[in-house]
Amino acid sequence: MNQATDIGQRIMQRADELALCTETPGMLTRTYLSAAHRNAAELLAQWMRDAGMNVRRDVAGNVIGRYEGIAPDAPALLTGSHFDTVRNAGKYDGNLGILLPIACVAEWHRQGRRFPFAIEVIGFAEEEGVRFKATLLGSRALAGNFDMAVLNRHDAQGSTMREAMSAVGLDANTLPQAAYPREKALAYLEVHIEQGPVLLDEQLPVGVVTAISGASRFCINVNGLAGHAGTVPMDSRRDAAMAAAEIGLYIEKRCSGVPGLVGTVGQFDVPDGAANVIPGKAVFTIDIRAETDDVRLAAVRDVLDEMKRIAARRRVTLEINQTHEASSVPCASWLQDQLAQAIAGLGMRVRRLPSGAGHDAMAVAALTDVAMLFVRCGNGGISHHPDECMSADDARVAADIFSRFVEHFAEP
Ligand SMILES: [Zn+2]
Repeated sequence: MNQATDIGQRIMQRADELALCTETPGMLTRTYLSAAHRNAAELLAQWMRDAGMNVRRDVAGNVIGRYEGIAPDAPALLTGSHFDTVRNAGKYDGNLGILLPIACVAEWHRQGRRFPFAIEVIGFAEEEGVRFKATLLGSRALAGNFDMAVLNRHDAQGSTMREAMSAVGLDANTLPQAAYPREKALAYLEVHIEQGPVLLDEQLPVGVVTAISGASRFCINVNGLAGHAGTVPMDSRRDAAMAAAEIGLYIEKRCSGVPGLVGTVGQFDVPDGAANVIPGKAVFTIDIRAETDDVRLAAVRDVLDEMKRIAARRRVTLEINQTHEASSVPCASWLQDQLAQAIAGLGMRVRRLPSGAGHDAMAVAALTDVAMLFVRCGNGGISHHPDECMSADDARVAADIFSRFVEHFAEP
């Protein structure tokens, strides 16, 4: 077995080992500041120390390993991802982006190799938003734009985030101190599984992320008129559910065939519906995302216009509530190009693609330029699910590319 094969397998073995830190035996659930979460943080810290890094925990609970450059106290190239998980999660979402750079740093440490800059591997303590229904807590703290109002949110047991932090010895009032000094950050690169099928379908192990898509979300209440399913003729009906269905089909049509644009109706309810009643009410959600804000906002405008036309024709009324609005976060082109060179250097085709899902890089972009390397998922690209998978070969290829990127890293 050659050295190159070893690194992929080592990453996979550690992903298995880390997945044993769970709140629920038999499945992987690791929410912010749980006992399992603390165990995972200790394991990561140990692996970072074994790889020659100095390790610190910041006040948000992020685990940060620093591999010094040639000169002490040099600015750092940042990398990392999150080690919290959703309920009944896969083993690679987030975790890969911490384990892979640790394995690469271990190699440089073994060779006694250092760079003109430091490397900091960050295990972000919270990204998924499971416990306090607020996402990206770790990376927002690091980026210096943590929303202190979130500290008063409650978990399902009724503890506030402030109390949960205090219970493990973290002082929420000092959270602003977790902000990373801007002049010490050169750039941020996050390695993450794709969580979708694009690379799998194109038989490519990795891809370069162009941007993290912005998103607009709405919750729509449709009010029609309930009536007897047997007695009201079709042309006198004001059916709220069919109006919602027609709007849903329009969203699907409008968002199809435009690169980087996706639209989803993820919830669709007929409250108090019955088989023999014409629906008087319907409630549904809209989620529209795109690589660029222009494309997303144009689709949102068309959907809102068409929705009103459909409602007028069907004589139903709409209550439109926007629940979320986030701009697209572009990955820096100079970092994308250096990633592309690392991929092309291995003789592979460079595939660029947007990320439809949110990632820590979104928050870190407020601190420094960001880039992301996507790694192919198996099983049709399934994620946030125990069937999430990837191969040791792809882990090795991604580690190779990460190493080349770092070894050739140059500021713009
Ligand atoms: Zn993730």
